[in-house]
Amino acid sequence: MIAIYPGSFDPITRGHLDIIERGHRLFEKVIVVVFRNPNKTPLFSVQKRIEQIRQSTQHLPNLEVDSFDGLTVTYARMRKADVLLRGLRAVSDFEMELQMAHTNKTLATDIETIFLATSTEYSFLSSSHVREIARFGGPVDHLVPHTVALDLHQCYAKTPIALANDDRTLTPEELPDATLTEKPASGASISSES
Ligand code: ADP
Repeated sequence: MIAIYPGSFDPITRGHLDIIERGHRLFEKVIVVVFRNPNKTPLFSVQKRIEQIRQSTQHLPNLEVDSFDGLTVTYARMRKADVLLRGLRAVSDFEMELQMAHTNKTLATDIETIFLATSTEYSFLSSSHVREIARFGGPVDHLVPHTVALDLHQCYAKTPIALANDDRTLTPEELPDATLTEKPASGASISSES
């Protein structure tokens, strides 16, 4: 069976990696797909996120990393995948994830969503918390792959402290160049979004 693990991965965390490694043991092939989430303003470009995931999953054969702009089920059909793999952390994830699974089922009855419960040590971990910690110069090496920790520190090192200490919206010119491909016309906030 081919499984797709779709997500924003902005950036990939050790929690994501745990789901990828466990999914990899269950399925013939896992395709990690970076999706553009229209409700989130990304910190890292899609290309950068793909690179980060590839670097963090080099030890896993039969794993592919890709990106797609469109419906998850459209991509799944294109790749002849049978399963959408998702991770569940807490009850807070459950409602949204269940709704999404039901919606996807109405679009493609032959594609199943399979949830893997997070490993306990990662149940608190989210990309938005990681970004928030890094933004204020805190350590993130225990939360993300090493290469991602370096990218985060590099990214926020370029952000003037005065800006990192308030919540005002950054203009496109103030955003760290190396990380964003699409600079939003109205500016983007580096404060936490989930
Ligand atoms: P999305 O924007 O699609 O929610 P995310 O990158 O935030 O993308 O999450 C992708 C998937 O990984 C989701 O199913 C999410 O619940 C799961 N996930 C995120 N963090 C963890 C974690 N720490 N442990 C297990 N699953 C996780």
